Amino acid sequence: MPKPKTWVRKEKIVFVGKCKYCKSEMTSEDSFIPIGKIVRGKYQYQNAHYKCVKENDHKPKINFDW
Ligand SMILES: [Zn+2]
Repeated sequence: MPKPKTWVRKEKIVFVGKCKYCKSEMTSEDSFIPIGKIVRGKYQYQNAHYKCVKENDHKPKINFDW
């Protein structure tokens, strides 16, 4: 019996950073949106899963620790 392929490498996947909310690594295959914020006069942005952003929209405003 031939060995089943358990690991398929996809070269096109690019890491886009960690999700602002769930802190997991995101790849270009995830649906994500960049969230911008001005911190100490500097504009910074961080990507977050679209799903996580939607979930957090329903919650009251929290002070997110950047
Ligand atoms: Zn997330």
